[in-house]
Amino acid sequence: MSKADQESWSRVKGRLRAEVGDDVYSSWFARMDLEAIEEGTVRLSVPTRFLKSWIQSHYAEKVLTCWQAEQTQISRIELIVRSAVLRSVVAKPKVELDIGDGSRIIGNAGARALPAGDASAHDALGGSPLDPRLTFDTFVVGRSNTLAQAAAKQVAAAKRGDPVMFNPLYVHAGVGLGKTHLLQAVTWTGNALGERKVLYLTAEKFMYGFVSALRTQTALAFKEALRGIGVLVIDDLQFLQGKSTQAEFCHTLNALIDAGRQVVIASDRPPSDLESLDDRVRSRLAGGLVVEIGPLGEELRFEILKSRVMAARSHHPSFDVPLPVLSYIAKTVTHNGRDLEGALNRLLAHNKLTGHAVTLEMAEREVRDLIRPQEPKRVKIEDIQRVVARQYNVSRSDLLSSRRTANVVRPRQVAMYLAKTLTLRSLPEIGRRFGGRDHTTVLHAVRKIEGLVGNDMALAEEIDILKRQLQE
Ligand code: ADP
Ligand code: MG
Repeated sequence: MSKADQESWSRVKGRLRAEVGDDVYSSWFARMDLEAIEEGTVRLSVPTRFLKSWIQSHYAEKVLTCWQAEQTQISRIELIVRSAVLRSVVAKPKVELDIGDGSRIIGNAGARALPAGDASAHDALGGSPLDPRLTFDTFVVGRSNTLAQAAAKQVAAAKRGDPVMFNPLYVHAGVGLGKTHLLQAVTWTGNALGERKVLYLTAEKFMYGFVSALRTQTALAFKEALRGIGVLVIDDLQFLQGKSTQAEFCHTLNALIDAGRQVVIASDRPPSDLESLDDRVRSRLAGGLVVEIGPLGEELRFEILKSRVMAARSHHPSFDVPLPVLSYIAKTVTHNGRDLEGALNRLLAHNKLTGHAVTLEMAEREVRDLIRPQEPKRVKIEDIQRVVARQYNVSRSDLLSSRRTANVVRPRQVAMYLAKTLTLRSLPEIGRRFGGRDHTTVLHAVRKIEGLVGNDMALAEEIDILKRQLQE
């Protein structure tokens, strides 16, 4: 390469720096080298595929015009990734990577940035903290999470070089249904196998790490660190905010997937509902395997509780929860896994602090506020007719008949009133079910009883008793 070309290149870099500013320049262009100029084509090299695609999609035009300002005959820019051979020969400067939480990683720029090892490497990379209890062993499988668990296990067990089955794996579910548990299980297992580095990041950590890396002008190093990762796990994607973070996420996602790395994501909603992300990211997210974890069924809740008690007993051998208490909690406490844990923690605390054994009565007292509101029982019109007939000592066919004697008129009106207030049936439908009466007749009956219960205490009480019988 001629000296003149080298001098042009210095001036082009100067122009670029002036155009994009120091920060952007040092993030993206500091390690771009001139390889050759041939027949109007400038060949530039960068150390990573990621940088190449980023520069190509964001700065290709700018780089070209800066060159054209120096050498008018230039018509094309070609970007290449510097070869691995070249890189391994040249000694790499140590880079320090500030990942935003005060910890620093020292690694070889360009080379695989991660030391071997498991949790310590994970921590060193700035991964979010992992809870040692959240493993596949402690994850109870039931109807609502079978597919998610199987997919997660498959991903965790894959070896380097295995074909990637589904990428990204995208798990979505409501709060407390086991997303974080599953993602951390993937991370523990993957890192224990040591085949591929697994990095678990909450979306917040991703944002925070990236944003502060940009601020300290080590965005490039941050990206290279990400590139050393075999599996990137991002939890709570719905919290990813900000245009530049999302652009960064998009590029990271593309770069990783294109390079055959696995991406695992959890969110509280399906990709199509992530309103703030742009369409291409959404379709990329939806392009792998999207699985939903459904609400924990009663059986699964029971099994989770059972395994929790077993785990608690390794620390508190005297902690004993009778099975009826477990069924009671499984039956009544909300679908949320966190409330199940909360319920057991209360029993444990109570047991430890007072020394009293866990009984059903104590459980009822302790977990009262975690109880799921019972869905009101669906009342059927036939039941209303049966119960009312029995109460007033008439037959059901009397209620449906056209007889107008006082001893059937009142019970019939009460039954219609109850049908209107306890079911979602319309007036015409209720009329049909009461011997084919007109809806105005039903309306009249409802108004009549409404008017009476205001003054007639005895009737009000009768109706109250009927309602309770029907709703039990
Ligand atoms: P999410 O991230 O979906 O909000 P978590 O993974 O934090 O939910 O789960 C909430 C709690 O419920 C955790 O303590 C978790 O261990 C527990 N949990 C949820 N699903 C299961 C399961 N299938 N087996 C065992 N524990 C579970
Ligand atoms: Mg979670």
